[in-house]
Formats: sequence, structure tokens, C-alpha cells
Amino acid sequence: METLNEKYHEIVEEKKVLIDQSFRDSVDTIDKKGKSNFLFPKKPKGKLYHYRTIVSLVYLAIFFTLPFIKVGGQPLFLFNVIERKFILFGQIFWPQDFFIFAIGFLASMVFIIVFTVVFGRVFCGWACPQTIFMEMVFRKIEFWLDGDAQKQRQLKAMPWNGYKARKRITKMAVFYAISFIIANFFLSYIIGMDEVLKMVYDGIGAHYVTFTSLLGFTTVFFFVYYWFREQACLVVCPYGRLQGVLLDKKSMVVAYDFVRGEPRGKLKKATVNPDQGDCIDCLACVRVCPTGIDIRNGTQLECVNCTACIDACNAIMDSIDKPKGLIRVDSEENIEHEKKKKINWRIGAYSTILVLLVAFLAYLLISRNDVDATILRTQGQIFQEQPDGRISNMFTVKLANKTRRDIPMTLKLVNMKGEIEIVGNNLTVPAESYFQSPIFVKVDKSQVTKRKMKLLIAVYEGNKKLETAETTFLGPAE
Ligand code: SF4
Ligand code: SF4
Repeated sequence: METLNEKYHEIVEEKKVLIDQSFRDSVDTIDKKGKSNFLFPKKPKGKLYHYRTIVSLVYLAIFFTLPFIKVGGQPLFLFNVIERKFILFGQIFWPQDFFIFAIGFLASMVFIIVFTVVFGRVFCGWACPQTIFMEMVFRKIEFWLDGDAQKQRQLKAMPWNGYKARKRITKMAVFYAISFIIANFFLSYIIGMDEVLKMVYDGIGAHYVTFTSLLGFTTVFFFVYYWFREQACLVVCPYGRLQGVLLDKKSMVVAYDFVRGEPRGKLKKATVNPDQGDCIDCLACVRVCPTGIDIRNGTQLECVNCTACIDACNAIMDSIDKPKGLIRVDSEENIEHEKKKKINWRIGAYSTILVLLVAFLAYLLISRNDVDATILRTQGQIFQEQPDGRISNMFTVKLANKTRRDIPMTLKLVNMKGEIEIVGNNLTVPAESYFQSPIFVKVDKSQVTKRKMKLLIAVYEGNKKLETAETTFLGPAE
């Protein structure tokens, strides 16, 4: 970031250290011809990597288990965009609930922005499905099959022979098989696990269109995890591209303590130069970086906050008897002013906003009606004078039952006294269905004091009021 770099230059200027700024001229993952430079990050290890592995295992367990969990015979989560059927936490959401999605979407956007401003890109490194699958599934398998970075480089450099072909075919087959499994599970979030299993039992011939799409998605996953990798975060991900405007010098990010680390120098020189900083220029932090950057150059768009460089540097600091944390999660401002306190008023205030937003979203989901009622005046009808002297209006009642049970409903007038006559005499709305019926509202003429009056009709299930719908009752001119 700019301030960090300014400060960095200041320090460098003061200490007369020559720095190489050539990293700004290129992206490590793209060569001069614009082709992708395949990276070989070293296998990370350390406390944070261990925690990240645990978080990923929990995450993967949830991802692969959720499609099997059912509530009342329906999936716990379903995002069926094809049939416009959405289930969240076992609750069915209908197109009528669109406003909840719209408000929820806006609230989520605010959440993401505020979260990023305060906590940086921690989501990318620790919770994004792309990073979890890449670093915690495919990368681990790659280390297991091809060995650590050095062995992978050797394998790439060696001419094609039986050994290399076997290694490559094995890796491709394993990556494709796992991509196929992941694609199946993603599909189960869209059409439900029951449907996916049914297709498996029915065989490819009965569902060749779905199977072809599945292979298409599998190939995309395979391409991303076998070859495209960190480019998805650097080039494609819109969230990644926004970091430049979301982060500021108060944001908590993975950062190099340039005040403590500079001027850097090889370990042997440290013994003769007491002014030398703690960074021994060993490049351990660079070697483990999955996006190929040098975090010592300051916060960069490519950094996904995976924290692998923190582990790598802490191990080096341990080995040379220096305090850990030369690279750590901190704000640029804290590092610049050598502040120790990490929680400031902004983190407190923004975190409160985040909690309120989550509470608001939860409220929207919980307070949603089980039934949607719309009462519309029947077209072409004004009012009728009944033989008994009452005035009647004809309406069409439209009911949407969002629950998984049939609901026998009754209608009651709220703000007028009178009678509701239901054509067909039955208002039982089947589960997960729409229902519509004409109704007549008959009221005593004495109550019709205006030509147009507000009419409220409550929808009940037994004694429980489900909703109140509003319409207009027409009467003769005064
Ligand atoms: S700089 Fe560090 S935290 Fe950022 S991506 Fe590289 S290893 Fe991960
Ligand atoms: S791992 Fe630490 S000591 Fe080594 S180059 Fe990186 S910041 Fe410097």
C-alpha cells in the first residue's frame, strides 16, 4: 500500500539500502509473453497451517454432509435456480420472498465490504471454497503424488519418459475424479441429493443431458485446480479485484514488519552489522506463497491472506533466536507507528455493525410468513345490491402455502362487520402450492359510508392469524 511503501522508501533512504523495485513491472504468475508461469510453492507447515487444516476439515465435512441432511423430508439447503425453489435452514423460500433475497443480498454486500475493511482478506485464505479445495485438497494430493516443490520442478524439467507420463496421468486421473465428486455435490445443492442419487441408479442413458452438463462442470473444476489455480483469485475473482479500494492502512492484513525487518541482510552479515534488521533475506516466506509474491514488498492484490508466510517466517525467527511475528496479521498503521494494540475503536464499531447486520438477516429469515395472501378485486365487477339489502363485492383470493403441510384456512373481516362467502366453500391450500378462489364480501349497507373504503381481510389457520391482506370495498355513490 502506498503509505507502507512511502515509509519503506523513507527507511531505505535513511539507511542507504539499495532496493529492487522491479517486482512492480510484472506479475510473478505471468511470463513476458503473457503465458501463465506455473508456481511450485513449498509445502507449508506450522501452527497456523495446522489450524487452517482443522478449519478446512470442518468446512469440507459440512460441505459433503449438508446435502444428506433433511428436515421434514426436504433438504436443509437447496438452491434450485432452474425451478426457482430455494430452501435455507429447512425453510422454503418462494419467488414471493424475493424482497428478502434482495435486502439480504444488499446486507451481505455491506457485510462483505465492512468485514474486508476491518479484517482484510482473511475470508480468501481461510474460508473461500476455491482456496480450501486448492490448498487443502488438490495441493495436498499433489504434494503426496509428486513430492514437495523441488521434486515437482524436477519432474517438470525432465524430458518425457515412462516415469513422467505415469506421474502426470495419475495426477490427472485423481484430480479429474475428485473434480467429478465435487461437481456432483455442487449439483446436489441445486437439485437435491435424492435426485442426484436417482440419476446414479437410473444410469447415464436416462439422464444424458444432466450427465453432459456434469462433465462440463467437472472439466471446469479440473482445469481450475490442475492448471489455472491462483489465477482464479488474481484474474477472475471480483472480490479479489476490489481489495485495492476496500483495504486501507488500518485494515488487519498479513503484513511484514518493515520497521523491524529492514534493512534486511544475510545472517552472517548480521553478526558484523548491528544496524541490520531481523529479516535475513532467506526467502522462506516467498517460497511457500501460493500466489508467488514477496510480502516484504507490502500488501499486494495477489495476497490471499493464507498466512503460510507467517508460519515460514516464524520458523526462521525461532531458528535464529529472534521473536516471532516479523510477518504477522497486523495493520499497516500499527506497524508504521510500532503500536502493539490490535483492537481499536474502528474494529469495535465495525464489528458491532457486522453483528447487527447478521442479526438483521436472521430476523428477515425467521420473521418470514408461512402464507402469502393477495386479495384482488375481480375485473369488471363493481358492487352488487343483495335482495336482503346488503352490498356485496367480488374478489379473487390468491394464497401461497410455503410450508410442507396442507393448511385449512379461514378468512375474517377485520375492519368491517359482514360475511365472507367462499365459492366452493373450501380454503384448504395444499403444501408448497398456490391456491386461488373467488369470494364475496357482503356487508350491511349502513356501513358503506363512502364510495371507496379500505377493506382488511385476515387469513387464519384455526385461531392463528397468518396474514392480513388489504383491498378496497366499493359501494354506491353517497
Ligand atoms: S503473501 Fe503470505 S499470506 Fe499472502 S498469499 Fe502469500 S503466503 Fe499467503
Ligand atoms: S521468512 Fe522472514 S526472515 Fe526470511 S525472508 Fe521472509 S521475512 Fe525475511
